[in-house]
Amino acid sequence: AAAAEALRTHIRDIHDFPQPGVVFKDITPLLATPAAFSTVVGALSDTAEQLGATVVAGIEARGFLLAAPVADRIGAGIVPIRKQGKLPGRTVAESYALEYGTATLEIHDDAVGPGDRVLIVDDVLATGGTAAAASNLLRHGGAEVLGLAVLMELTFLAGRDRIPSLAVTALLEI
Ligand code: IMP
Repeated sequence: AAAAEALRTHIRDIHDFPQPGVVFKDITPLLATPAAFSTVVGALSDTAEQLGATVVAGIEARGFLLAAPVADRIGAGIVPIRKQGKLPGRTVAESYALEYGTATLEIHDDAVGPGDRVLIVDDVLATGGTAAAASNLLRHGGAEVLGLAVLMELTFLAGRDRIPSLAVTALLEI
């Protein structure tokens, strides 16, 4: 409840970004407010701890800002899931459809393995395409994907339906 309140107070709507008609949830005010950010990181960390995560996977780029403090709090490692062409080592890639065009995410091919218990962290769950691709990449590596934790879930987009195998924790449903 404290985390939901912190989000309600410190997330702002940006209209017509990244394209006309879209209302973008902007987390930068939250990031800039220490007490609110700490509350939110604490709530995500509680989820990670309850699930017994040993690895926190962050999705570029805002997911990194959340995955790192959560991993540090619970004593887990961080695995970055990045946009195409950013990781220096050998990668595995997964492409998925966006409303217009496609996107590709990558992971190092040795980033996770059997025995790793992974929680995926990101700022927003929208259509679920990003989370589905991330979980496929992690499972391809042999990891056990415990779930997805996000700050906000845009429920009207039904993203959960696209990731039925993932336990979804959203600190705020919109
Ligand atoms: P999805 O693949 O449609 O679920 O979109 C989720 C991805 O897009 C996440 O990585 C989010 O960071 C990003 N995203 C979608 N909508 C928003 C938004 O309103 N605010 C911030 N990020 C968003």
